[in-house]
Amino acid sequence: MARRDYEIDELISAEAIAARIGALGTEIEAAFGDTEKLVVVGLLRGSFIFIADLVRKLDLPVEVDFIEASSYGNAMESSHDVRILKDLRGPIEGRDVLLVEDIVDTGLTLRHVLGLLRSRRPARLETIALLDKPSRRQVDVRATWTGFEIPDEFVVGYGIDYAQRDRNLPYIGTVRLP
Ligand code: 5GP
Repeated sequence: MARRDYEIDELISAEAIAARIGALGTEIEAAFGDTEKLVVVGLLRGSFIFIADLVRKLDLPVEVDFIEASSYGNAMESSHDVRILKDLRGPIEGRDVLLVEDIVDTGLTLRHVLGLLRSRRPARLETIALLDKPSRRQVDVRATWTGFEIPDEFVVGYGIDYAQRDRNLPYIGTVRLP
């Protein structure tokens, strides 16, 4: 495998992520305690590790589905044209839904996907984002639960990529270009 031509500085350790997800799991369980079945919707691809860890903290009947929206491509700049690349497999009308996102940055992706899911009339729709960069927000949208607020830095790891690399890092780090 080719060496990286950039450095990664650890921002959030694997242990800190695990501890935070444990606490979030307790809050979500309490919030959805009376659900018949919760549909946990992962927003691909950056949420795939987060959702895997999160659902294992939920002692609730859950179903897992995925949706994919276009975002960064291979660059560090946000594309503002949000498109759905892969839709849900199942209906969510009348269901309790938890949308799981990796990062809320400008907020455009979350707003778009929330609008789409809301149009399908779920009984309840909440969101959780592992990371939030409030200083970058362009639209007024916020996740119900957030793992960590982070500064305006490009991050990788724990499911989040830089040009499709580094999703397999167990921690979250910032990219430092030479
Ligand atoms: P937004 O629509 O809120 O601007 O962007 C959300 C999406 O942009 C995230 O789901 C994520 O895929 C991508 N994104 C935002 N910030 C970063 C970052 O620091 N690193 C990476 N790899 N992707 C990011």
